[in-house]
Amino acid sequence: MTIPFMRLDRQFQDCKPVFMAAVENVFTHGKVLQGAEVLALEARVADFFHLEHGAAVGSGTDALVLSLKAMDIGPGCKVAVTSLSFQASASAIVLAGAQPVFVDVEETYGMARTDVLLDLVAARKVDALIAVHLYGQMAELRELYDLARQNDVKVIEDAAQVLGAFRGGKPAGQCSDVACVSFDPTKVIGAQGSGGIALTDNAAIAERIRRLRYHGHAGGRVYAEIGHNSQLPTVQAAILNCKLDRELPWRRRRQDIAAAYGAVLAPHPDVQPPAVMPGNEHNYHKYVMRVPVGRDRLAEHLAKDGVKTTVHYTKALHTQPCFEGRSETVGDMAAAGRMVGQVLSLPIYPELTDAEVAQICDSLAHWRA
Ligand SMILES: *Cc1c(COP(=O)(O)O)cnc(C)c1O
Repeated sequence: MTIPFMRLDRQFQDCKPVFMAAVENVFTHGKVLQGAEVLALEARVADFFHLEHGAAVGSGTDALVLSLKAMDIGPGCKVAVTSLSFQASASAIVLAGAQPVFVDVEETYGMARTDVLLDLVAARKVDALIAVHLYGQMAELRELYDLARQNDVKVIEDAAQVLGAFRGGKPAGQCSDVACVSFDPTKVIGAQGSGGIALTDNAAIAERIRRLRYHGHAGGRVYAEIGHNSQLPTVQAAILNCKLDRELPWRRRRQDIAAAYGAVLAPHPDVQPPAVMPGNEHNYHKYVMRVPVGRDRLAEHLAKDGVKTTVHYTKALHTQPCFEGRSETVGDMAAAGRMVGQVLSLPIYPELTDAEVAQICDSLAHWRA
């Protein structure tokens, strides 16, 4: 029995009547862009993150790009970002016209608060930070955010992976000017296509993002600036609202699966389960093990037992050819460089059956480096 790394077909089978009713409703009322379902989603997600405003856009990437632009981070500006993340955390900076400054990660994959980073902020050598919360748990940002504010350095939380994660009981978005969430289908709450949202307490930033997402339209016949066309289709908002109703039970199921994996891995001599920082609730968007020796051999072993895995991420961003000549790297990037060789992600979706979870646990238990 092969266990795919991801499968949305089972989610659809479980939710089909609800999804199809939502789709039919939108197609019937016909307001397929900026419909009431979009406003409802924006209010709901903002509320979930304890923030005032939500601006739904076409993708998590666009949420980052438009957030940067809305704070006038563009040509001539530098933005620090961690090198171990999805491509979009850094490409968004280039798309906004600014330059990425790559920094290293800490053990739980947040931005490492090294002297190098603190100097970048304290000496205002960067104009903004994109702080990524990776794999489904939040990084500690309070001190960094306070230092950034003192120095007028903007902070964006890349919260693409942390819907349903909490630190000290609070969601992402409390230590930044804007937090950006992705509704990519691979994420815990995913559209049937692309989608994203920018969240903020700052009304002016929210208004600017709304303007930028539709051609810079300032009302009437006036286009105040050059904008994008990045709207979340109403039908996607309608489906996302249905999925948000299930966020908690899905999260609890992923957490139970993670506990089953953890029970096998805690005593395992050769594989480390993901470390969860004290005070964090991990949403297990991804289940990323650390395998100091023989990562690729473990992947092959699991594949032979029918368990598909993947690597998030195989290459540190500062080594991607697309950033050559248009980025800076500070520090030796030792942690990011090491982790790309050690991380391995197991399937973790609520629709995994108990038998499948047992099959995965069994395969893990029988591997030795
Ligand atoms: C998915 C993701 C993005 C981009 O979101 P899209 O909706 O795919 O454009 C950005 N940053 C991180 C960390 C992500 O995981």
